[in-house]
Amino acid sequence: MPHEVDMTKALMMSLKDWYSQQTERWPVRRVQLLVGEFTCVEPDLLRTAFAKQKLGTFLENAEIAIRDSPFIAFCRNCEREYKPDINLEYGCPECRAPLDEIRSGRELKIEKVDWDIPVGAER
Ligand SMILES: [Zn+2]
Repeated sequence: MPHEVDMTKALMMSLKDWYSQQTERWPVRRVQLLVGEFTCVEPDLLRTAFAKQKLGTFLENAEIAIRDSPFIAFCRNCEREYKPDINLEYGCPECRAPLDEIRSGRELKIEKVDWDIPVGAER
């Protein structure tokens, strides 16, 4: 649980930095995150932590949208991608080479922020 709480804190900080750099600031409606399967982040816990931490901040009316990024590795021997399995210690299911290259699943990033632009203010 503290994992997600800390992640959310870090996330809020990046959002705040980003927001303070904008020349025009409209109310943030939605924050879309890309969360890798291999980050061990529980999306529900992240949502709960965000719901608590946003209170009283500029993100108070924002909701969080989470897009999962699957855990995919690449085996150089077989030259193919595979889905790592903990039962094989994440090694290649064909040649059993140990996990070497992770292609996706480790991301935790802000993909997109949507905000409400008042009518008439569109560029
Ligand atoms: Zn292989």
